[in-house]
Amino acid sequence: MLLQNKVAVVTGGTRGIGLAIVEKFLENGASVILFGSRKETVDKALSSLNEKNPAWQVSGMFPDLNKPDEIARAFSEIKQKYGALDILVNNAGISQRESLYTYKPEDFEKIMNLNVLSILYASQAAARIMKEQGGGVILNTSSMVSIYGQPSGVGYPASKSAVNGITKSLARELGRDHIRVNAVAPGVTETDMVKALPDAVIQPLIATIPLGRVGKPEDVANAFLFLASDMASYVSGEVLSVDGAARS
Ligand code: NAD
Repeated sequence: MLLQNKVAVVTGGTRGIGLAIVEKFLENGASVILFGSRKETVDKALSSLNEKNPAWQVSGMFPDLNKPDEIARAFSEIKQKYGALDILVNNAGISQRESLYTYKPEDFEKIMNLNVLSILYASQAAARIMKEQGGGVILNTSSMVSIYGQPSGVGYPASKSAVNGITKSLARELGRDHIRVNAVAPGVTETDMVKALPDAVIQPLIATIPLGRVGKPEDVANAFLFLASDMASYVSGEVLSVDGAARS
């Protein structure tokens, strides 16, 4: 049990990679508060987790991640209820594929608002609590496209490159407060979106991955578990690729 007695928040924790992180943390003894965008999806995730193991300490909230006040209020409620906040995982994210020639500035803004600004807001609120309690861990979900780009949809890789910059900078700024900051950069991962792709799309993709398969949400969650735990107590400012060596 690598996270016994730890209190963790996971944004975008209702499905896909976020839900796998929530489950991994619960299996390792943490109390987890998952954040989602709507009450219905939060309730659905909570009932599936309760069904798997009624003893797991899991609850949910749905603050608007574009509103710093709502986020700060949510974290202060968590501090009051649980007495601490040890781990924040900034995982919520959206992507979009669109050619540069037709790209709408408002879509770029929407992606940056969720994928980047929400990390700033949540990290601010969490770091205040962590500093006061003597330390903590902030983890961000990046993407391999932050390093290698992608052939359409310029906003998404731009947002994930910003995530890497935030990760490295906050690691340097918050180290003195005993707060470690790291990111995980997944390659193509088998969430609902990828599962829906036809064979004609997925097979050529797999052919580019040296380990011969797409990632599973659990592969990514294992990296988060390591970085959240004391096993990574001297690791900060790192962007850990989990992509089967598919670096292009
Ligand atoms: P997903 O679409 O299955 O899950 C996204 C999560 O973000 C959901 O829980 C959703 O509720 C939440 N979310 C979306 N919009 C939101 C909003 N406006 N406010 C609050 N929450 C919102 O996607 P996923 O594949 O599990 O992605 C999770 C993270 O992993 C994202 O940051 C994504 O960019 C990153 N990622 C995914 C892949 C992949 O191949 N699946 C690869 C690299 C990085």
